Amino acid sequence: MNKTEVEKYKKILETKQAELARGLRNRDDIAIEKTPDALDEVQLAGERELAIRNLDRESSLLRNVRLALARIQDGSYGTCLHCDEEIKPKRLDAVPWTPYCIRCQEAADRHEFESSESLDELLAA
Ligand SMILES: [Zn+2]
Repeated sequence: MNKTEVEKYKKILETKQAELARGLRNRDDIAIEKTPDALDEVQLAGERELAIRNLDRESSLLRNVRLALARIQDGSYGTCLHCDEEIKPKRLDAVPWTPYCIRCQEAADRHEFESSESLDELLAA
């Protein structure tokens, strides 16, 4: 991948990172707001669960975006973490923070290998 392409993805990732970080901060503000008594308990529990699920998803997305930016720093961006093959530009355009090529992502989705663990190892390294 040439420098111009890397810069392009870097910009996309930085924008996404700022957007997600902002969203997560706003969510914190909502969480500490007082609960109106009038609201139905069950509905409230459901909404809370949904909010937590969204938060989880956005947190892990943010983590992936940060890891992708780290890979841009160390020059490994655009290479699949699992098989070391180049990730197709079409896939990077759709999911710029992906650590895997489409084949490995599908394998990870089928739990053929533990994807989150290898990401944690990368974080620790
Ligand atoms: Zn791969």
